[in-house]
Amino acid sequence: MSRWLCWLFLLAITHLQAKPLALTDAQRDYLQTKKSLRYCIDPSWPPFESVSPDGQHRGMSADYVSFFRSQLPIPLELLPTASWPDSVAAAEQRRCDLLLLAMPTPSRRQFMNFTKPYLVIPSVIVTRTEHPRVKSVAELGNALYGIRRGFGFAELYRQFHPTLKLVEVQSYEEGLLMVQSGQLTGMFGNMGSLGYLLQQYKITNLKIAGRLPGDSELSIASRNDEPLLNEISQLLIEQIDPALQQEIDNHWLSVRMETSEDYRLVISVTAAALLVLSALVWAYLQVRRLNRQLLQANVRLAHQTRHDGLTGLYNRAFLDEKLPACLALCQREGIPLTLAVLDLDHFKQLNDEHGHLFGDQCLRQFATLLQQHFQRPTDILVRFGGEEFVLISVGVEETVMAQMLQQFVDDLASQPVTLEQQQSHYTVSIGWICQIPQRDQTMAQWLAQADAALYQAKANGRNGAVNARSPDSN
Ligand code: GH3
Ligand code: MG
Ligand code: MG
Repeated sequence: MSRWLCWLFLLAITHLQAKPLALTDAQRDYLQTKKSLRYCIDPSWPPFESVSPDGQHRGMSADYVSFFRSQLPIPLELLPTASWPDSVAAAEQRRCDLLLLAMPTPSRRQFMNFTKPYLVIPSVIVTRTEHPRVKSVAELGNALYGIRRGFGFAELYRQFHPTLKLVEVQSYEEGLLMVQSGQLTGMFGNMGSLGYLLQQYKITNLKIAGRLPGDSELSIASRNDEPLLNEISQLLIEQIDPALQQEIDNHWLSVRMETSEDYRLVISVTAAALLVLSALVWAYLQVRRLNRQLLQANVRLAHQTRHDGLTGLYNRAFLDEKLPACLALCQREGIPLTLAVLDLDHFKQLNDEHGHLFGDQCLRQFATLLQQHFQRPTDILVRFGGEEFVLISVGVEETVMAQMLQQFVDDLASQPVTLEQQQSHYTVSIGWICQIPQRDQTMAQWLAQADAALYQAKANGRNGAVNARSPDSN
């Protein structure tokens, strides 16, 4: 009964969106010229998205599509594909304009733009029920574990836990069967899919035994030869009401135990539910008018409390919240952690010569270049304050990080910044540390070491990166 009500309630919310998107003239013209938008999905990735035997788009992204359609002035159509790799290929060949749930990876960024993530899914391990709880990948030993072909974090686990014996399987179903039969000790994957399958097939001898490092952050990807589409996709995401998001999560990700219901009882209960629903919708519409503004203000506030307004990067408050968790994760799993403090050189002088607006333009350009250089899902970019930035990166080796930072320093120095008639160059100094954190190390110690290396980089004449562990070598 409550499930029926929930679902009807969700439909009501989806179709009763009040305000249209606040599109600019350029965005509106782009859509009118385009006439319709085509999107692709993973046709077999329940509960996130799938295609039913009669060709209908189902799952969480289908609910979001219903909402997006209510917001857009032109049709949004599914381009059917046989598999997820086919969908990515269709996007690359420009046969489709959008991928609805995609993780930003360096190779995909060659041809797609990405919005901020709107769905975050933890990674987990499923074992037989008698298996003890898994607290860390490091404790898994040398048994066999299944991993779905294409699972994004496989590379990370392989690199930092080379003794792990990972067996690639074609599908989650195949992997779960192998865990049941004892051929595998556990199956790695995302919590949404694995939880859904355990319920769908009523599997009771398996359980989610623990959480693994690496959350999948899913965004809308749009073709990058039409950049206005990314702006529009971002607007769509910002328009998603938290109440709608909650309903979609509840509907697809909550634990659902199916029971065999009496069919006649279901019909009469549904009729009663519809009556109650009409009253509810009427009341809801009244409250909604007032709540909507409040919710939007809350969403904006939630965004503002974690992001910097000028550059769009994360802010210091977010860093304070996230850094201890990164440190603990890397300590537990034995993975290298990088903390880099980046400070623009002679920025006061640049402001004095070209004006504050020009300085702001430099800060924005700096943030964009930083995002282009550090775009792995495990990179966190923060504006620490003023002209000082922080990079946190999980899972990159020290020698690789040294090259990446030097490349960034060089690229920045070679790119002029332009605003109206003015043009100038500027540089950055970086102090950084990269190592597997020891058990007793604290966040404050890491920041102090990176700061000391930054001081050294300034003393060396600026426009360079200094490693806190070998301050004399670069
Ligand atoms: P150093 O190479 O030693 O770091 O010198 P610096 O001039 O960069 O350092 P200092 O700390 O003396 O000056 C930082 C300047 O950054 C001063 C301030 O006006 C400027 N700044 C801080 N925040 C902003 C901002 O949001 N916009 C602009 N345009 N300038 C800013
Ligand atoms: Mg400075
Ligand atoms: Mg400074």
